[in-house]
Amino acid sequence: MNKRTVVVGGGLAGLSVAARLAKAGHDVTLLEKAPKLGGRAVTIPLKGFDFNFGAHAIYSRDSSYIRKLEKELQLNIGWVDFDPKKARYDLGHEMTEMPATLEGLFKTKVLPKGAVKARFAIEIVKTVCLLERGEEGVSIGEWLRRSGKHQQVQDLMLTLASSNFFTQEPERIPSTVFFKYYQRLFRTSKAVSYIAGGWGSLVSELERVIVENGSKVVTKAKIERVLFEQGRVVGVETSEGLFTGDEFVFAVPPKELAKIFEGTTLAASISPYLLHKPNNVLVYDIGLSKRIETPYTYIYDKQARVFMTDISAYTPCTPEGGQLIQAVAYLKSEEVGDREHAAIRKEAIERLFDKHLAGWREQLAAKRYTERAAAQEIKVEDDQQLMPVQFHACANAYFAGDWVQGVGQLSELSFSSGYEVGERILRKGNSGIVLLSRAV
Ligand SMILES: Cc1cc2nc3c(=O)[nH]c(=O)nc-3n(C[C@H](O)[C@H](O)[C@H](O)COP(=O)(O)OP(=O)(O)OC[C@H]3O[C@@H](n4cnc5c(N)ncnc54)[C@H](O)[C@@H]3O)c2cc1C
Repeated sequence: MNKRTVVVGGGLAGLSVAARLAKAGHDVTLLEKAPKLGGRAVTIPLKGFDFNFGAHAIYSRDSSYIRKLEKELQLNIGWVDFDPKKARYDLGHEMTEMPATLEGLFKTKVLPKGAVKARFAIEIVKTVCLLERGEEGVSIGEWLRRSGKHQQVQDLMLTLASSNFFTQEPERIPSTVFFKYYQRLFRTSKAVSYIAGGWGSLVSELERVIVENGSKVVTKAKIERVLFEQGRVVGVETSEGLFTGDEFVFAVPPKELAKIFEGTTLAASISPYLLHKPNNVLVYDIGLSKRIETPYTYIYDKQARVFMTDISAYTPCTPEGGQLIQAVAYLKSEEVGDREHAAIRKEAIERLFDKHLAGWREQLAAKRYTERAAAQEIKVEDDQQLMPVQFHACANAYFAGDWVQGVGQLSELSFSSGYEVGERILRKGNSGIVLLSRAV
């Protein structure tokens, strides 16, 4: 008999675990509470524009887990790589190249010419060669202060981290996480990429693999409760009835986990992660009926810490002749939910639009504005820890998502934690007996 695995949550993490196990011959049932798959990477059509509600870009796709999945599952995804020549930092008084490539570093005015640029290049080499690793319990802000590195080199390192970690306070990133992240990113030749056809095409591909391999996707199935017997999960209760299985993957955020595991063996293990704050951002995406030509597809306002991307320059997502711009403002945890502050950040984005997209208000056909979108369910700052993929208290429950330990940040955590969960279940083999070696 094929092993029966129940996957709860149809976001990128749940979908990728389910697709991988289905392809390996498991009998998988994926349960998603929403009518549509994708979770925070869902694509919603609005007046002819395809708005990606969450994820925008993939960082270092050449070394990412999505690439492993793409190969193993033979996913049909088209990639469109970000063009660094069309990206600029807006410094207020002038625009300058991003130091995303050697050429960009040579040209950028974020650093003064000469020795300081050379020092920054040396920092890149030291990071890649693992000569810098940070220290447990020390933030990158503190670590840099102690290091005595040139102030502008410190500033640039924090500016990069602000974009990659989607944070207003990059100095609070743990130094060890910072260096681990850049050891990978500085090696990449594909720093930022977009998905042709948007994230919806990836979601559809993962769903295709699940279904084509004989497994099942059930939407509008909200898990209310988990059933335990002798320390093992034996089933999950949903509005659609009871689903039983051998292995259970929970790819739903901590606040949902707390509800469904209430009163069970795992409740105490999960509860510390409820105290950790998510990384919320303000999102302001606009659909324009007529394209407004701009020389740049990505602009980062360094002072205001907001960015805009012309996503329609990379992939078709608008009605004929239209344009779709995505803009995000990073927030400090204490700013989340503060309406006055949100209004100020919204204005900062509008000022960026006014400056670089003259006449956008007249062309505005559709928009998506939210003051609070979870870019990551547990923010990587201070002592906030990501959840493990498994707890000692239960041998057949696994966890995946961007709140779970893995490689990278944002959706990379969903893919990498999902991949690890898949590995653990596959190592157990189809019989339910744990295989001690992959060669067995
Ligand atoms: C504005 C914004 C911009 C972003 N930009 C980027 C980016 O550029 N690059 C990047 O890599 N990432 C980005 N992200 C992050 C990325 O979108 C997320 O990391 C990723 O989508 C998370 O996927 P997940 O499967 O881990 O979690 P989720 O998407 O949260 O999936 C959880 C799923 O579980 C379902 N669920 C919840 N409770 C239950 C229940 N009781 N029963 C059944 N189902 C349930 C939910 O409906 C959901 O579908 C961005 C996010 C946002 C919000």
